[in-house]
Amino acid sequence: MLRQSETVCVVGHTRPDGDCVGSQLALALALKAEGKKVECWNEDPIPQKYRFLDPDRLIQPPRHGFEFDSVVAIDSASIERLGAAQSCIANRRLLINIDHHESNTRFGDINWVSKREPSTGELVYKLLKAARWQITKPIANCLFTAISTDTGSFQYPTTRPGTYHIAAELVSKGADLAKICDEVYQSYPLSRARLLKHVYSHFKLTHNNQIAYLWLRKADFARTGADTVDAEGVIDHIRAIEPVVVACVFEEIEPDLIHISLRSKSEKVNVSQIAEQFGGGGHPAAAGAQIKGTPLSVQRRVIAAIKKALDSAG
Ligand code: 5GP
Ligand code: MN
Repeated sequence: MLRQSETVCVVGHTRPDGDCVGSQLALALALKAEGKKVECWNEDPIPQKYRFLDPDRLIQPPRHGFEFDSVVAIDSASIERLGAAQSCIANRRLLINIDHHESNTRFGDINWVSKREPSTGELVYKLLKAARWQITKPIANCLFTAISTDTGSFQYPTTRPGTYHIAAELVSKGADLAKICDEVYQSYPLSRARLLKHVYSHFKLTHNNQIAYLWLRKADFARTGADTVDAEGVIDHIRAIEPVVVACVFEEIEPDLIHISLRSKSEKVNVSQIAEQFGGGGHPAAAGAQIKGTPLSVQRRVIAAIKKALDSAG
């Protein structure tokens, strides 16, 4: 269907991560090389550390007034995850949903959803191979970043032998490991260092140290100069604490709107199911949701749900 399409929009989820940015750009670049008219949209700006992947600024905020033969939603478990882009992609023949989230609602006309896949980047790689579209050096950089970030640098148990084979091929196609590692992993702004100070001095433990949680209030961002992008991955710092089984970060989006991030270290505790209780979703080991309510009531409900999941896991 993509081959037959002349106009294509590649759209990703709000607060895009490396998998979303890399997969969106890789597909958009491949479609452009095929001579298609391509729009590549994301409601939110690309985090600084991924900007080197998009020197030509292909990723733009969604705009009205377009018609598309195909719209491809990337790495998005539900149509709502596309945010403001939803109303700008209404004039389309076909909606294609490419994703790897267990909780995917299969909102497309064509749904290619594989929860076995550790990243959407692997799916896009397979699509390019199947279509025999060339994997250029810029595409290799995008796909390597997508795969590397969504596997926690090939550390998560979702990583399979095939993941390394694909990564190896991407390096042989020119993926610039030194550049990717430097931009994505080896540097962060001073504001993030200040935020990490906050993390280490304010995280809380409960339920016999099996639950670690942390609040990021608007005041914490203001004081440290950090933004929500700087907060990406701070949850890993409390997840790593040895007795912790479930980690949770509460982030104040608006006074009565809280984003929660959840991580589980136990196969018996599926945090995607916990997030779904609050209208969110994700993967068994990493999930999230946006919850309306006062901070205290949100915290009480979420911690209670985590305790219940831990208790029934034994
Ligand atoms: P993070 O904690 O990094 O924000 O997200 C972890 C995982 O949960 C990601 O796979 C992401 O797609 C999913 N996720 C995060 N926030 C939401 C949300 O509000 N809704 C849904 N459905 N999934 C989310
Ligand atoms: Mn992903």
